[in-house]
Amino acid sequence: MILSQSFLGDPHLLTNAALFLFQVVDCTISMAPNVVSTTLPEEHHEPQQESKPLEPVQIVWRNVLLFIVLHAAAVYGMYVVILNASLTAWLYGVFLCFMTGLGVTAGAHRLWTHRSYKAKLPLRIFLAFCNCMALQNDLYEWARDHRVHHKFAETNADPHNVNRGFFFAHMGWLMARKQRDVIEKGKTVDVSDVWADPVVRFQHRFYVPLCALCCFVIPAAIPYYCWGEKGMVSFFGAGFFRYVICLHFTWCVNSLAHMWGNKPYDKNISAVETKWVSAFAIGEGFHNYHHTFPWDYATSELGYKYNFTTLFIDCMAYLGQAYDLKTASKDSVQQRKQRTGDGSYDVEDKRHK
Ligand SMILES: [Zn+2]
Ligand SMILES: [Zn+2]
Repeated sequence: MILSQSFLGDPHLLTNAALFLFQVVDCTISMAPNVVSTTLPEEHHEPQQESKPLEPVQIVWRNVLLFIVLHAAAVYGMYVVILNASLTAWLYGVFLCFMTGLGVTAGAHRLWTHRSYKAKLPLRIFLAFCNCMALQNDLYEWARDHRVHHKFAETNADPHNVNRGFFFAHMGWLMARKQRDVIEKGKTVDVSDVWADPVVRFQHRFYVPLCALCCFVIPAAIPYYCWGEKGMVSFFGAGFFRYVICLHFTWCVNSLAHMWGNKPYDKNISAVETKWVSAFAIGEGFHNYHHTFPWDYATSELGYKYNFTTLFIDCMAYLGQAYDLKTASKDSVQQRKQRTGDGSYDVEDKRHK
């Protein structure tokens, strides 16, 4: 673990928790979306030196067992949902998937990892709550792994290096011990800004009980008590089935969106544009663009097309909860397409089409 043990005993956590409450009351609402068209440095992907050869895979059997149990529970959840769920429960399930997704896309990814926009405290608390519904490691760990992925993509230091095959990039990496390169080079990636957010520290401190509540107890209790959905449908459907589906939607970004699709912005990297992954991962499948302009809050130049997360962030900006939204200038995108793209998109700006 790169995370220092001293974080676990942070004496300021309760003080920070109290500060949240005061800041919630203090939040101000402005009605003007705040999008900054910018020319931050683009990502240029030089061939990386492999400092160490790939070590033999060390399987973490505890995680393998955990994933087997989890998937068995999810398959049972799917079975009871198909046979027993009411229409209300289906709609509720879709709503839960969107909330879970936003915790990863608008929260862990675009806000905390890439700092592509800023968010006021109420929005950060909401996104941290949604992130607990997603149960994909806490925000600090998620941001650290993802920054390492961007910095060392397609090398042995990439936690889910796509060169090791579809299964490894999709979910196998979570069942194997990390390569020494991932750990050592990971230490060179600064994540102190993520840890500086009291919301992140609070989530880290109470991660297990928060996830038990947000991922399983609350999603199951609502249909059971509010409209009398069957217990099995509520628990296995809204809990396990919804959770595992959302895991796979996220994992597709690491696997499919690094394998099959076009590369209009940089043909030298594995990341691709794939609308199917974008549709299911609410906007995260425009991965060639994203690896080229990782600090762009929209992760795409195509506006809201297959990109619910961008719509959500724009709505939050309208409500004054999100601000300083960064986006690549039209010119820099066009120039990059002409310079390193594979020519699969024309050079017209498609944002407003
Ligand atoms: Zn990627
Ligand atoms: Zn990213």
